[in-house]
Amino acid sequence: MPRPALIALDLDGVLVDGMEEYWRSSLHVAQGFGAPWPALETQVPPDFCRIRPWVHRGWEMVVVAWALAHGATASLFLKDYRAALQHWQGDLGQSSAQLQLALEQCRQHQLHHEPLPWLAQHRFYPGVVERLQDWSREGVAWTVITTKGRDFAAALLDHQHLEPTAIHGRESGAKSKVLEHLQKEQQPVWFVEDRLPTLETVIGEPQLGNVGCYLAAWGYLRPNDQEQLGPPIHWLERHTFCAPFSTWPA
Ligand SMILES: [Mg+2]
Repeated sequence: MPRPALIALDLDGVLVDGMEEYWRSSLHVAQGFGAPWPALETQVPPDFCRIRPWVHRGWEMVVVAWALAHGATASLFLKDYRAALQHWQGDLGQSSAQLQLALEQCRQHQLHHEPLPWLAQHRFYPGVVERLQDWSREGVAWTVITTKGRDFAAALLDHQHLEPTAIHGRESGAKSKVLEHLQKEQQPVWFVEDRLPTLETVIGEPQLGNVGCYLAAWGYLRPNDQEQLGPPIHWLERHTFCAPFSTWPA
């Protein structure tokens, strides 16, 4: 029966829906740089949600918040995400590193001063916490690989009493490099991720040929991701994620 020696999981869009936090923290940082936005606005704009599937790293969301605050629309980003991001980052006038630092400082401040409201802006997808707890009980090794800072991922998991084998945050480097390191210790590794370009990078690395790649159907997907998907990347529904490994596509 197929079964992973280690299962590696993306955090945002696989375990956790943190849309509210992404928006609030990104807007807060953008406002710190002078973005205009009505002070009482708390709803996540639909345009922010539409753009989110294209986002790779946290700082990009600050640029998106900045752009929306200046009247940009989702269609601009959806037409050419990289070009729109570059344009609005130039308008904002901050480096990626500066934006990432500002975002992490904003999160750190909330985590230290208002941890519960910050945690409450994140929702684990239904059934996921139970599945992870089952794996821990059954002795299945599972690890988290995320572009989020490690401390933030750890706080979210700890709040649900979840105990992964390890957490690899953005400090650990590219996900494909982390996977390469992990599979030197045990094989096979299965990887669940909601960003198709990340999975495509993994399957393009010859040394990662044994990694099982799964696109999380419940995550932040672009409209055409399912059609563009091809072997060896598998489409994974959440009910299958929550079911025994023997039922997963292989
Ligand atoms: Mg993700």
